[in-house]
This record gives sequence, structure tokens and C-alpha cells, in this order.
Amino acid sequence: MKRILTLLLAALLLFGCSQPAETKQTSAPEPTTTPEPTAEPTVEPTEEPNTVVIDGEVFLYDGFSVVEPEVTFDIYEKTVSDFVDDFDTVYEVDRESYLLTPGADTETTVVKITGREPGPVVYVAAGIHGNERAAWYAGLMLQNATIKAGTLYVLAPANAQGARLNRRTVGDEDPNRCFPGDVNGTLAQRICYAIFHDIEEKQPEILLDLHEAIVYSAGRDYLGSNLIYSSLTGMEDLFFDLLFDTQDGKVTSRPFNVNGPGPAGSMNRTVAEELGIPAITVETFRGFQMERRVSDQLKIVAYVLRYKGML
Ligand SMILES: [Zn+2]
Repeated sequence: MKRILTLLLAALLLFGCSQPAETKQTSAPEPTTTPEPTAEPTVEPTEEPNTVVIDGEVFLYDGFSVVEPEVTFDIYEKTVSDFVDDFDTVYEVDRESYLLTPGADTETTVVKITGREPGPVVYVAAGIHGNERAAWYAGLMLQNATIKAGTLYVLAPANAQGARLNRRTVGDEDPNRCFPGDVNGTLAQRICYAIFHDIEEKQPEILLDLHEAIVYSAGRDYLGSNLIYSSLTGMEDLFFDLLFDTQDGKVTSRPFNVNGPGPAGSMNRTVAEELGIPAITVETFRGFQMERRVSDQLKIVAYVLRYKGML
């Protein structure tokens, strides 16, 4: 039994959206407060074939990783208020959009939503990994949201080619290791360049970088329910309030864990270090049903918008 568990853990450790082995090697700025880590999950094989139990929840398992459940609804018929009550109120807004890398296979849309009241700028980049669908599904819905105050930019899907092909990459490259990108580089480097410079131009108070993870890694990538930061500067209160409120069951369907910094070349880390803009990467677990994942993504975005006085 112990050997099976060890093998299972080793297999699960191999893959993860945030690639913990890479992030571990870099030195993180010390947080001003140390959050309580979420307890280690328990993983148990079951009597049923092709299933595994993680913290009491049963998941489909292919012998190597947890299998993503089928999507049972039409994402294009859903709106943010189908998932999150915070979006129930409809405000008058101005809405306009523009393209990044127009004409290229990575061409994608940023929607700018401006509320009637003055307020901060927040930027959401959804799905730089194209196969992390709840991230960019949430982003597409957010592009039709309304806000009371401030300005919300929503880029979705950040990796349009990957979203079409249900792939993490752009071509063969991981776009979340290509930041700040290169205007004359590969397709992946060019979309990274476009995203990085769009964020730089808009100067948001905070960047929300929406992702998902297929597996958990003990202590790091816990069920993929993670918040990742590279620097807490400028968001100390918000980050810990959000984290602790998820752990108290006030925000999401399960507690979120924390880790960081983002790996070298990631959007999170590059924006934090080179632009001084605080960034939170949100990871939901692809073993859960899509409704739950989209809901958790949107609840975290809504939490930040409300915190900033925009809802
Ligand atoms: Zn990802």
C-alpha cells in the first residue's frame, strides 16, 4: 500500500501547471506574514478501477493523473451571474475591445470595461495555457460583465491558438515561460511581448493571471487550488485577506493554498519584477467539474473587484 502511494505521489508530482520543481529553485521574497499552509492532502487508491480519492473526494484516474471530467453545459450560453452572485447587479458601462497580435494565429481580444464611477484599473489575463479551460471560459464571461467603478481589462483567451487546439503551448513553446517576449521572436514570444506591453501600458493596480492544474503536488500545487505570487508589494492586505477567506470557506468551493514565486519567464513573475505590478495567479483543479472550476475562478475575480470598490 505504501509503495502504491509513493508511486502515485511521484507520478502526480511530475506534472503541474506551475511546475513546482522549477519554482522551488528560485528565491522568493519573504512574505510580510507567513500564511498557515493547508494540511497535506491524503491520497488513497479505491476498490473501483480508474478512481482515486484525494481528501475524501473521488476522481477519475488514468493510472498517471486525474482525468478531467466532461463539460456538460454550453459555456457560450452562460454569464458571470450564473456562477457568482456578486455580478447580479447590472451597471451601465462603456465597453470597447482591441486585438493583440492581429492577423496571427495567436490573435486574441482584450475587452475594456469602464464603470460610471472613478476607480482603479484591474487587468485579467485568462488562459495563457490554452488547455486550462476554466481559466479562459471565466475570462470570456468576464468580458461581458459590468462593473460599478474603475476600469477592467479582460484578455481571453490569452493563448488563443492553445485554446482552439486544447493545448498548453503556442507551437511547441510554453508561453508562460516566454515573458517579457520578443516582438521579432517566435509566435509564442510575440504574443508574450504583446501581452506584457499591453499590461505595461494599462498600468493596472493588480494583474489576475488565470490558470488551472491537472494534478496536485504535495505541499505546493495542492489540488491545483492555489494562489501564486512573486512579490507581495502593493497587495499585502488583499492577498492575505483573499487567501484566509478562501481557507475560511468564505470565497471558493475549497480552501486555496499559496505558493511562489512564479517560474522565470512567467507572466506573474515578469510583470511583478519588471513592472512592479502585483500579480496573483489563480489555479483551479481540472479534476473538478467545470461549473465548480469556473465558479471558483469568477469568485476570486469578484472578490478582488469588490475589494477594490469596483463592484
Ligand atoms: Zn497554467
